[in-house]
Amino acid sequence: MPWTLRTEFAFDSAHVITGYDGPCGRLHGHTYRVQMALTSGRLRPSAHIQRNIMVADFKSLKWAKKDVTQGGLDHAFLNEHPDLRDDTTAEVIAAYLHRETLRRVRECLEPGDAGEDLRLKVTLWETPDSSCEYWE
Ligand SMILES: [Zn+2]
Repeated sequence: MPWTLRTEFAFDSAHVITGYDGPCGRLHGHTYRVQMALTSGRLRPSAHIQRNIMVADFKSLKWAKKDVTQGGLDHAFLNEHPDLRDDTTAEVIAAYLHRETLRRVRECLEPGDAGEDLRLKVTLWETPDSSCEYWE
């Protein structure tokens, strides 16, 4: 794929790994760091420009950094999030970020464009030295 759009952001959230026998089974928080890498075989218009000069708006890859009251994951209790519930491991959160981000990017495509060439890789750091990657 000729183009890769890459952006990083962070969000702070609390969680409990329900049923985990150890410290992760107690309420605690992380400053999660996220890298989104979206590759594309061609350029497209966006919601803000009609010419075919973009992979996507960077903004469409950064929705999760918004406050939880505005649809993001910042300052959330992840176990109360309807798409995560009690399974709030880095693996599950990364897969959720992947699914939801691609859904939002595809929602912005023009009619007739299914975006088959788009590939997204999500890297989620739970701590500065521990991360999980998810892509298909
Ligand atoms: Zn944790």
